[in-house]
Amino acid sequence: MALSLPRDVVVRIKEETDIVDVVRRYVTLHAAGSAFKALCPFHREKGPSFHVHPSRQIYKCFGCGEGGDVISFLMKVEGLSFPEAVETLARPLDIDLARYLAEDEGEGERLAFHRANDAAVKLWQEAFWSERGEAARGYLRERGFGDEVARRYEIGWAPPGGGWLVEALAREGVSQDLALRAGLFGQRGAEPPFAYFRGRIIFPIRNVAQRVAGFGGRLLGQGEPKYLNSPESAYFSKGRLLYGFASSRIAIARLKTAILVEGYLDLIALAQAGFANGVATCGTAFTADQARLLRRGCPTVFLLFDGDRAGLGATVKGCQTALAQGLEPRVARLPQGEDPASLLQTRDAAALGEILSRASGYLPFLRELVEERGGTRVAKERAVRRALESIAQVPDPIRQAYLLQETAELFGIGLGILERESARLHGDGRQAAVRGGADADAAGGASGTAAPGPSRPVAPAGPWLDRAAVEAVMFAHALRDDTGRAAGELLRLRAERACATSEGDLLRGEMLRWQAARAAGEEAPPGRFVQAEWHEFSAAYRCFVADLLAGDLVPERGDFVKAVRDGHERLETDAERERRRAAAAR
Ligand SMILES: [Zn+2]
Repeated sequence: MALSLPRDVVVRIKEETDIVDVVRRYVTLHAAGSAFKALCPFHREKGPSFHVHPSRQIYKCFGCGEGGDVISFLMKVEGLSFPEAVETLARPLDIDLARYLAEDEGEGERLAFHRANDAAVKLWQEAFWSERGEAARGYLRERGFGDEVARRYEIGWAPPGGGWLVEALAREGVSQDLALRAGLFGQRGAEPPFAYFRGRIIFPIRNVAQRVAGFGGRLLGQGEPKYLNSPESAYFSKGRLLYGFASSRIAIARLKTAILVEGYLDLIALAQAGFANGVATCGTAFTADQARLLRRGCPTVFLLFDGDRAGLGATVKGCQTALAQGLEPRVARLPQGEDPASLLQTRDAAALGEILSRASGYLPFLRELVEERGGTRVAKERAVRRALESIAQVPDPIRQAYLLQETAELFGIGLGILERESARLHGDGRQAAVRGGADADAAGGASGTAAPGPSRPVAPAGPWLDRAAVEAVMFAHALRDDTGRAAGELLRLRAERACATSEGDLLRGEMLRWQAARAAGEEAPPGRFVQAEWHEFSAAYRCFVADLLAGDLVPERGDFVKAVRDGHERLETDAERERRRAAAAR
C-alpha cells in the first residue's frame, strides 16, 4: 500500500490520541503509580506485566518484550499495516488523510470503494430487518441463529429484483459507476446495470483493517450458485481474506489458536456458541495467504470441516498449507454428514468442545484415514508419501525432524529410509522456494518497512562486563532527559565507539539526527524525536527503544548527565582491561 504521510501528520495523530483510551478498548487497565498495568494482550500471563505510560504515551510488556506507541499497539493488536493503523487513528480526530491520499489515485479509489461498500451494508441490513427481510430472518431462525448474532455479523438481505438498490445507493451518494467498480452492480453489454446480489442473504466480509472488502451471498430458495462472492478486484480477493477474522483476531491472539471452518454460517454458529476464535474461508480452499494472516497471531489452527469425503480432502490440503506456512494444524472430526452449524443446531457448545479436545495432529489423522480405508499396504504407502511431501515443506528443520520421527513410529517404517527419501525431496528445491517465500513475508510482515534482520552482537558480552546492559542504561538516561543534555553528552563521549548491539547503533544514528534537527530549531526532546519515526525500523528496534523509555532503568528524576558519564567510564575501563588481557595472551 503506497502511503507516505508527512511526519508532522503522524506526530499530530500521536499527540491527539491518548494511548490509554486506545489500550483500554482491549484490556482492563489498573492504575499503578504513574503508569497503568494490565494483563498483556500479546502473551498469556497470570500477573500483569504490561505497562502503559500516559506521560510518555508508550506501552511496554516486561513479559514478552513487546513495546511501542499507540500506532504500533494498534498494528500489533489488530494486525494492521502502518498506514492502516494511522488511518484508523485519524478517523475520530477528523484529520483529513484524503488530502494526502488524493495524490495517490489508488488510495483515493480504495476509500471510495469502502464508502460504497459501507452504504451497501447499511441498505442490506435495513432490508433484512424490514418486512421485506421476513423470509431471510425466518431461514436463519429456523437454523438456530438468534437476532443478536445476526446484528453482530451485520447480516443483510438483498431482495430479488434489485432495482431499488440502484436508487437507494444513488440517494447515499454512491454513483452508478462507483457501484459497478465496487462489484455491487453488474452489467451486460449496453444493458442498464443490475444489482449483483439478488435474493440472497448477505455476509459482509471485513478485512484486517475492519473495512468491508466484499460480500458473500447465500441464495434463499432453489437455484445456482448457492453461494456467490463479490467479484475479484484489487480490493477484494477471497483467497487473501478470512471471514470473521476482523472480530476474532483478539481472541485468536489471546488463545494462540484459531478454529478454521468452511462456511459463513459455520463461523457465525461458532461465535454464537461462544467460540470467539473462529475464522472461515470464503468459499475457497485454505490458501497460503490466509495461513500467513493467521500465523501473525497464533501458532495452532484447528481444522473443523464437513464430515464428508469432500471435507476430508479439504482437511488434508488445509493441513499441508498450514504446515508449509509454519502453523501447527489440528484436525477436529465431525460426525459423517454434519457441518459445524448443523452440529451446533442440535447439540450444545460442550459437544463441540469435546470434539475439539479430541483433535489430532496431521500425521495421526493420515494414519486414521488409512485404517478407515481398510489399512491396506497401498493405502499406507500413499499416506507415507503424502506425509513426506508435506514435511518437506515445513519451514522449521527441527519440526521437520520431529515429524519424520513421528511418521516412522506411526507407520512402522525405519527412520533412516524416511530421512533419505525426505532429503531426496528437499533436493527438488521445492522446500527452498517455500522457505524463501515465508521468510520474505516474515521480514515484511506486520512491522512494516525495512527488513529487521537478526540483532548483531558487535561485541558479545565479555567476561568483565555486560556492555549491552551498560549501554542500555546510558541510552535510557539520554532519552529520558528532556533537556537533551544527557543525549548530547552520550553522543560526544561515544562518538568514536561502536555500540554493543545493532539496535544501539540505529538508535545512536537517530539521536544524531535529533542533534542536527535541534541545531536547526527542532523543539522535541530526544525521547519523543526518536519515537516519531521508529516505525521505519524493525519491531526489535522499536521494542528496544520502548524498553529504554518505559523500563525501570532510570529514576524519574536525577542527574542524567552524570549517569551517562558513569556508564562511559565503566565501558572505557572494561575496554582497557580487555586490551591488556589480549596483549598478555599474545
Ligand atoms: Zn506481553
